[in-house]
Amino acid sequence: MLNKHYDNLFDVELDTTIKKTKTIEHQVHTVFNDTIFYVKSGGMESDRGWINNEELIDIYVEDQEVWHVTSNPIENPVHMQVDFNYRLFKSQIHSAQHLMCTIMNTDYHAKTIMFKTGEIESEIEMGFESLNREILNEIERKCNQHIREDVPIIIAYPTKEEALKNIWEDYGDDFDWDTQLRSVSIPGIDYDLCACIHVPSLRFIQGIKFLGYEKTTRGFKISFVAGTQLFDYIQKHYDVFHEASKSLAIAQLEINDSIQKLFQEKKELTSSLNDYKQKYFDYLAKDIASDPSTYIFKEFTDMDIKSFQQCCSTITNHYEKGIIFILKLDEKCHVVVSKNKALPLLANEVFKGIATTFELKGGGNPGISQGGGMYSNELVEHCKQLIVKMNED
Ligand SMILES: [Zn+2]
Repeated sequence: MLNKHYDNLFDVELDTTIKKTKTIEHQVHTVFNDTIFYVKSGGMESDRGWINNEELIDIYVEDQEVWHVTSNPIENPVHMQVDFNYRLFKSQIHSAQHLMCTIMNTDYHAKTIMFKTGEIESEIEMGFESLNREILNEIERKCNQHIREDVPIIIAYPTKEEALKNIWEDYGDDFDWDTQLRSVSIPGIDYDLCACIHVPSLRFIQGIKFLGYEKTTRGFKISFVAGTQLFDYIQKHYDVFHEASKSLAIAQLEINDSIQKLFQEKKELTSSLNDYKQKYFDYLAKDIASDPSTYIFKEFTDMDIKSFQQCCSTITNHYEKGIIFILKLDEKCHVVVSKNKALPLLANEVFKGIATTFELKGGGNPGISQGGGMYSNELVEHCKQLIVKMNED
């Protein structure tokens, strides 16, 4: 079922009447006696637009009829209006795909594997054996030369015999040769069977820019922009670079060098911060260890777990002490039981006792054991009592 309205990109308004209608889950589905809206197929998305100023929410084919979905019922007379900017956007990219794929097929024997129209950038996957930036530049140059030559894109309805005379591509066993055929040709460049909407001649593509490429298992994936998408792409990226260059107070082309410099500075700062942290814990450990008791209890707040752990191990590594330290973290807490290796205490046994009573998670070894759970005054009191008992033994 080929809709001849799709032959003309600019066929974006139509007056028609209602054929039938039904309501499904508060949405109105309508079939009209004619339609100009493109229905998603062949890798091209459906048109967007309005019917009597009602937004077209969805469009689909069921039993050879095109159903239009709107929020509210449509009444006769019916006026359809296609969102032209969106139609142009996707037709430019689709037509660009015809042009670039043909050049890759014929000049480089790279088969078309996949193509995709993305919102920011588009993609094709081609069966290149090898690919580099020079080859892409050459293809880009050829594509843009054809665009400047403004070769027409001609839509026709050939017989199977006429079509077979022109195509060399294998359409596969699944291709239905009995349906009405629609050909899309760019004279001297491309001949294809395709039911999508195309621009009338190559100048409407405006320009093609290949962005990058990457190896896949089947060939190479190439990202590109064309037409309106090319201009949108430049603007979006310019805006980001402009903001970044303002934040860094640097020219746009120097952003990368500036970021590398920032990373290096951050690395050096982190390293010197760690040195100062260790110095602080050395002083803190000395102060805590000045307590004459062998076993010490202490409670901390306002510290992250990593620093807390560093603090605990600084004390037990350098002083002949055993500790039960609690770090309070809002309603929760982290408990460390640790000891100097000269002491007989089994930190894992002590921690296990506390963990069982107060439902803490975690564990460790005879040197250091730790874990977390809910904070309570009972837990603090319990740990204090343990320390008193350890010092008495
Ligand atoms: Zn096409």
